[in-house]
Amino acid sequence: MPCIFCQIASKEISSELLHEDDDLIAFRDINPQAPVHILVLPKKHITSLNEMKDEDFPLLGKMAHVARELATKEGIVERGFRIAVNCGQEGGQTVGHLHMHTLGGRQLKGELG
Ligand code: AMP
Repeated sequence: MPCIFCQIASKEISSELLHEDDDLIAFRDINPQAPVHILVLPKKHITSLNEMKDEDFPLLGKMAHVARELATKEGIVERGFRIAVNCGQEGGQTVGHLHMHTLGGRQLKGELG
């Protein structure tokens, strides 16, 4: 079964794309948990944080940078926002392609609020 986020990255499946560069894409979460809920992810298929190789780790910094840029564009950077990477079953990861949630636009609370 093809990875849904790889299919979004290759445009086989449409999304509300907010950012694209050589390494990353970002699009709105289909089931938003907050007024702003954006997913930032590498185009390269990496299943989760657990499968990242040493050479992949710079991607996490790029993902955080894009997340902050998008939070700025969405007008939530001053009020505050959250980035989160779920890893594995008990971490709440449901899609097996590394991704960073970017959430904001309301007061977030515990867990993922
Ligand atoms: P996680 O539970 O951390 O693996 O997050 C996966 C996220 O992907 C969930 O918040 C889903 O709502 C979101 N999602 C799943 N399919 C799509 C899709 N086709 N387009 C946008 N977001 C999606």
